[in-house]
Amino acid sequence: ASVVGIDLGNLSSKIGVARHRGIDIIVNEVSNRATPSLISFTPRQRHIGESAKTAETSNFKNTVGSLKRLIGRSLNDPEVVEYEKKFLNAELVDVNGSVGVKVQYLGEPATFSYTQLVAAYLGKLRDNAAVELKQAVSDVVLAVPGWYTDVQRRAMLDAATIAGLNPLRLINDTTAVALGYGITKADLPENPEAPRHVVFIDVGHSNYSVAVAAFSKGQLTVKSTAYDRHFGGRDFDYALVQHFAEEFKTKYKIDVLSSPKAVFRLTTGCERLKKVLSANAEAPLNVESLMNDIDATSSLKREQFEQLTDHLLKRVVSPLEEALAKAGLTVDQVDAVELVGGSTRIPAIKERIQAFFPGKTLGFTLNQDEAVARGATFACASLSPVFRVREFAVHDVTPYPIKVQWEKEAGNPDEDTELVVFPAANPIPSTKILTFYRQGPFELEAAYADPTTLPKGTNPWLGKFTVKNVEKPASGDLACVKVKARLNLHGIVNFEGAYIVEEVEKEEVVTTGEGEDKKEEKKMVKKLQRKGDCATVGQYTGLVQNVVDDLTQKEGEMHSEDKLVMETEDRKNALEEYVYDMRGKLEDRYAAYVQPQEKSSLLTGLQEAEDWLYSEEGEDATKSAYVSKLDALKATGDAIVLRWKESEDRPKAAAALREAL
Ligand code: ATP
Ligand code: MG
Repeated sequence: ASVVGIDLGNLSSKIGVARHRGIDIIVNEVSNRATPSLISFTPRQRHIGESAKTAETSNFKNTVGSLKRLIGRSLNDPEVVEYEKKFLNAELVDVNGSVGVKVQYLGEPATFSYTQLVAAYLGKLRDNAAVELKQAVSDVVLAVPGWYTDVQRRAMLDAATIAGLNPLRLINDTTAVALGYGITKADLPENPEAPRHVVFIDVGHSNYSVAVAAFSKGQLTVKSTAYDRHFGGRDFDYALVQHFAEEFKTKYKIDVLSSPKAVFRLTTGCERLKKVLSANAEAPLNVESLMNDIDATSSLKREQFEQLTDHLLKRVVSPLEEALAKAGLTVDQVDAVELVGGSTRIPAIKERIQAFFPGKTLGFTLNQDEAVARGATFACASLSPVFRVREFAVHDVTPYPIKVQWEKEAGNPDEDTELVVFPAANPIPSTKILTFYRQGPFELEAAYADPTTLPKGTNPWLGKFTVKNVEKPASGDLACVKVKARLNLHGIVNFEGAYIVEEVEKEEVVTTGEGEDKKEEKKMVKKLQRKGDCATVGQYTGLVQNVVDDLTQKEGEMHSEDKLVMETEDRKNALEEYVYDMRGKLEDRYAAYVQPQEKSSLLTGLQEAEDWLYSEEGEDATKSAYVSKLDALKATGDAIVLRWKESEDRPKAAAALREAL
């Protein structure tokens, strides 16, 4: 089994793997440690990750991002309509109640839900990890934003399943960072009553998270979290795009905002400029053929950048305040502040955070880009039997209160009809046993108790649980039914079963008195006894099994098609390369090892193969056609190569022999 941790970033994703030496962040097929979180649909195949990024400019309408932002959301969510849409080029559509995209794929319109898109993307990361580990990958820990709701978490789990992965845990991303921090520290306080308080701050591409964690030897406890869910690098890019679009109206007489393609190009330029401004007082902007064949140029001073983004910078402080307030800490009581995420490189963001923590050194001891993936990998290692890792307990909490509600029992008029079972900041995981007095079958529903704290537009409904075969006991009382509710390691809520208990009178031996007076007596005592399990049916927001199976099969088919297209391309290139390589070498390297007859026949074969490759048929043939052409050429060619090799090896062998003697 493998140990893999994934940070699905909105801009790019990072994969950690555990090996005997420790945890490594792996590189992808072009040796990058981060893989663009993009999928591009083309007439021939899907491109995922790096190749999607390459295809993005020419195929931007069919290139889909915002994977983590849109999974588990619905098309009409105000946040999707008012906010997320502006960062997307592809057309959003409804797919069975959840948001998806409509793209051109294999020459036809096709729709995919974001669950499917994330599954496809995770499949690519899975393949990359498998190449690195030289084994199939299944067990993973996926990092998700701490503010993800039950619906988003279930959608992420469904996506992982569709990708053939076995998610051992969804871990909140700042918790992953805290774990990575704690597990490597040898000097944590012994006394859990006097822990070290560390504030973790992650400002990424789309999201800003703060977590306060208390560390003591062998454990961490998340004390509080706070978020600005709509704050990240992309908002800064967006502000720059608005600025330059305005400037170019007069400068070049073009309306960039009227052309999605131009907006896309300008955004790319602005992101680059923003990064340069992090290290320089001024930065140039160059966008080739932005619109109407105009190569746009401009520049910006850091000071101007800070003015243009002042409305954003003002928002830096509030999650910090909120997190400390919820944790009940003052700035003075904070022992360390650690920053991660690409956008914490922006000097103005650092300054605002610094101003909030006067006199404290902002820590960059964690790898800013990889801390989440590392932490997720540690979490996977500790859940998996493959490696022995240092015991380090992680006590995380749920951000949203969860209640259970039901209809009043007729025979029990004073009964409440709801109960907050898991209040905000309830530990994860956690099990609660609920007691009901009923005369027949009944239903329970779980829902978020305070919808105002949820991402706007989130349906607070979490699930329904039907408890069957409950009967009135012979005594005529109501049956006492116990229901098990669990907030699990992924941060989702499930009802895990129900059983009936009965009060029975039992004879027991009771000891009374001491020493001489010690007596054993038989007494009747009343006891609750588990009588039998109830049949139950649970219904939640995740996909039902047959839909998961169906999507798994579809994803598998698309994956094999992509693979076939790539292998075909690869065999075509191999044939092409052989033609040129052999033709050249027949004139020099192999010249002395080839018969004239043999040479002319091979040259003819090479020529025919070349002509065929550039014919309509050879341009777009099957993998086996390329393979068989190459094999046919090699049938003659290999003999020549072998003769040359043998004559090469002979003097070497002789030299080796001389040496040995
Ligand atoms: P999220 O956490 O929101 O899902 P992510 O994990 O993909 O997104 P990161 O990789 O942490 O995001 O950060 C990417 C963001 O950081 C981008 O907006 C990028 O432009 C920005 N960024 C990276 N380097 C710099 C820099 N030197 N200066 C300013 N911004 C930078
Ligand atoms: Mg991130």
